Amino acid sequence: MNQTFKFCPRCTKPLAMGEVDQPPPRLRCPDSNCGFVHWDNPVPVVAAVVEHEGQVILARNRMWPPKMFALITGFLEKDDPDPASGVLREVEEELGLKGRVAEFIGHYPFQRMNQIIIAYHVVAAGEIVLGEELVEYKKVAPEQLRPWPAATGLALRDWMIRRGLTPQPFENEAVKAIPQLRVIDDRLATAGQPSAEQFWAVRSAGYQTVINLLPADSQWAVADEAAAVEAQGLRYHHLPVVWEAPTADDFARFGALMQAEAGRRVFVHCAVNKRVSAFVFLYRVLRLGVAREVAERDLLAVWQPDEVWSRFIEERLRAGG
Ligand SMILES: [Zn+2]
Repeated sequence: MNQTFKFCPRCTKPLAMGEVDQPPPRLRCPDSNCGFVHWDNPVPVVAAVVEHEGQVILARNRMWPPKMFALITGFLEKDDPDPASGVLREVEEELGLKGRVAEFIGHYPFQRMNQIIIAYHVVAAGEIVLGEELVEYKKVAPEQLRPWPAATGLALRDWMIRRGLTPQPFENEAVKAIPQLRVIDDRLATAGQPSAEQFWAVRSAGYQTVINLLPADSQWAVADEAAAVEAQGLRYHHLPVVWEAPTADDFARFGALMQAEAGRRVFVHCAVNKRVSAFVFLYRVLRLGVAREVAERDLLAVWQPDEVWSRFIEERLRAGG
């Protein structure tokens, strides 16, 4: 819904792109007497994690496909005294419930829609009466929520984490088609080589960074993967690891990279997830303090390391890094 003007809303002349004092270029009126500039600033939207009788209400907008549910949201209005009042107004309009703000959760950019989402936890009581924008709702126990990896889903995830709950990893069908995909947790997935087109699925599943351990001259490698990944707006790191000879230095660099990317959702791949599963196993045990048996389950689900890799793993474990 990236709506753009074609004509100046003030004087009706056709608009053109041009810089206003400094980059980036803006859509602006060519008539300097008019001076209209379409700044296209993000629009503030308020969102609520509505808690009702201990459960969270997710609702489906009438414009959305079946089975798509999300938080209660609405545009902040001019007459709202502040965003917290605006969110209570939306909850009342859309659910017919009086609520109170229990907590400010955070603000979340939603660039595709050019919105900034201001999210609150709202506790509400009473009988639910849907407003005209909504067609159905469901109530979900907090521990069973599966936050989607964009927009209001990020607010829901943060809300769950603050309550000590562990959000279930979100996967979609397109990302599940990537070979040897193994989702480790909410922030980390490992896999074999995606096709150039599948990086779209990686992004749509909410990953923000791609780390590739496959050397560029491998027969499995995707030509110019950096461009394919960056075209999706994802961050890309290439850390080639030679299959026959992984080194302590490779692992040290991998550890530093993972640390630098902590806080982002990371997708790590090689050819068939063998190198990656071994590196991620070591990283979890040595750097994150995950129990060996727990981390090993994810490793062995991918493969039983061969002689070279078993030796590499044992050496790193003995060396402690
Ligand atoms: Zn104009």
